[in-house]
Amino acid sequence: MHPNPLNFSANELFLIVGPCAVESETQMRAILGHEHRPTLIRGGIHKMRTNAKSFQGIGDEGLGIIKKLKQESPFDFITEVTDVRQIETLLPVTSVFQVGARNMYNYELLKELSRYDRPVILKRAFSATISEWLGAAEYLSNLGEENIILCERGVRSFDNKLRNLLDLGSVIYLKKNTTFKIIVDPSHSMGLTPYVADAAYAAVAAGADGLIVEVHPDPACALSDGQQALNLPQYDELVKKLRTLAPVFQKELRI
Ligand code: PEP
Ligand code: MN
Repeated sequence: MHPNPLNFSANELFLIVGPCAVESETQMRAILGHEHRPTLIRGGIHKMRTNAKSFQGIGDEGLGIIKKLKQESPFDFITEVTDVRQIETLLPVTSVFQVGARNMYNYELLKELSRYDRPVILKRAFSATISEWLGAAEYLSNLGEENIILCERGVRSFDNKLRNLLDLGSVIYLKKNTTFKIIVDPSHSMGLTPYVADAAYAAVAAGADGLIVEVHPDPACALSDGQQALNLPQYDELVKKLRTLAPVFQKELRI
């Protein structure tokens, strides 16, 4: 198995950050060159958008950017695989594959990923019960439990004020009843920047092992999900508060 960069102990809280989508070298450099340089970087190369006319990701151009930047100074890159045909081309740059909410039920994709040596972050589908989510995780069992990371990213509800309903109950339940690592995505849960950090703090209190947060150097110009991205000063503030909060829950922050 490829080394798992998310193989932290129960006493650590890890933070994955980066833009919704890799857009340009300049954009990625702004994040990587930041003073609290993150080492676990997310960024979509192939995007699965609800609208076919929306930005779909820069594809192969993004692969080139990530390859180049990793050669300059290494980091772990986490990206979504939306189709089995992308696995081979993503492998050289990807430390952890992300399966998005829209693909949690794509069992053929999960079966295929279970044949590779990369850990997988399995996001909860919008309307998946906890049992269905665990059922999907079963398709990855070949990877070993330590290489399957569940990600709560909010579910559909009757409410329309927020993008999704952040189900922290699932985090509490899964931490008590399974041994999977569970992370929370406050960005897609809340959908709007002013609420993201507070949702992240609540996730820590619920027992999350890690967080995956959208950060963009210039959210107003983001090609996707700018309305929920933290800018770099907001990211700094998040890190600062998480450093103080994590020890309350016997954890130490890892970025
Ligand atoms: C993402 O993380 O970029 C994403 C598309 O999230 P989700 O699959 O949870 O909607
Ligand atoms: Mn996004």
